[in-house]
Amino acid sequence: MSASIYLDYAATTPLDPAVRDAMLPYLGEVFGNASSPHQIGQRARRAIDAARDTVAAALACDSGEVYFMSGGTEADNTALIGVLLAARALGRDHLVTTTIEHHAVLDCAGFAAEHLGFDVTYVPVDVMGRVDPLAVEMALTDRTALVSVMHANNEIGTIQPIRAISQRIRGRGIYFHTDAVQTLGQTPLDVDWLGVDLLTVSGHKIYGPKGVGALYVRRGVPWIPYLHGGMQEREKRAGTENTAAIVGMGKAVELLPTWRESEVTRLRELRDSFIAAVRAELPGTTLNGDPINRLSNNVSLSFAGADGETLLFGLDLHGIAASSGSACASGSIEPSHVLMALGQTAREAGGAVRFSLGRETRADDLTYVVSVLRELVGQAWV
Ligand code: PLP
Repeated sequence: MSASIYLDYAATTPLDPAVRDAMLPYLGEVFGNASSPHQIGQRARRAIDAARDTVAAALACDSGEVYFMSGGTEADNTALIGVLLAARALGRDHLVTTTIEHHAVLDCAGFAAEHLGFDVTYVPVDVMGRVDPLAVEMALTDRTALVSVMHANNEIGTIQPIRAISQRIRGRGIYFHTDAVQTLGQTPLDVDWLGVDLLTVSGHKIYGPKGVGALYVRRGVPWIPYLHGGMQEREKRAGTENTAAIVGMGKAVELLPTWRESEVTRLRELRDSFIAAVRAELPGTTLNGDPINRLSNNVSLSFAGADGETLLFGLDLHGIAASSGSACASGSIEPSHVLMALGQTAREAGGAVRFSLGRETRADDLTYVVSVLRELVGQAWV
């Protein structure tokens, strides 16, 4: 049987047709450079300003606190390196983050330690991937400049208690960054309620375009820009703006209130019945991550004794697109750092498959996936 079932929405989402329509003029007649003073340039400028207002409203911040960038990766790198470099001048050179961050934070922290001489503390997580706010507090020193804890994990779906963590940090002159790439499409974000000073979002996880994201930086937080060579983004991010992508991100953010809440409710139900059905058919299956505080669309499962890569290959042959708990690095399969941080062995982590649900996911699709898994798991032993 052939099918085409996309269950990798945490990796990326398709472009919403309304977003594409909003972008098209900026790929066509409105091609001007937003820095040019003539009319065609100023049309692009106004479109970027409008997108910035939309993103700012969604984060409950001022437009002057939103900086468009090339995606979540650049926003994470800018947050970490920008704040650390500025803080060093004030005698602070310590970063606190966690063991389960996205590589955009984790590898950037590694770069800051290895090449820029900063100290980094990695706060561990529990078996469900939860960060204990007290453990974050215990890691702080009088040299700590920045704490970075992701809002929700992209692999296992665990949502972190960002507000509680912020309360442990407050009042010490330490800035707090969160990577909210996976939560923008899940819940309204309010930077003051969360208690964060910097926050990362990305366009392509919310049915917007790839290659665009935004960094919120609270007014007054000192940070040194990463890219140089132009006055764009209030002299904080040089380079001619990708107007169409920024407009697309603005449109995708504008549309969030029209679908987010109902979709979260729908996906949560689908998620839970899918997990129950897989477990009923394959009793050796375990759910990775927090069963309660988890993204509505995340199903990360480990199939005891089975190899995740083999399963993925088999699923793909049946037309099912999912993702593994592994990353292919320099030709070798590395077990996921997130699953290892939960205390799993490399072998256990190698048995994980992530299904991430989204707009086109229907109950029938998941019934079919369960039947394919039943067939494959018995054959995919390591
Ligand atoms: N942070 C998290 C949690 C993500 O899931 C991703 C994307 O996979 C990123 C950062 C990187 O974002 P982008 O793909 O926009 O660079």
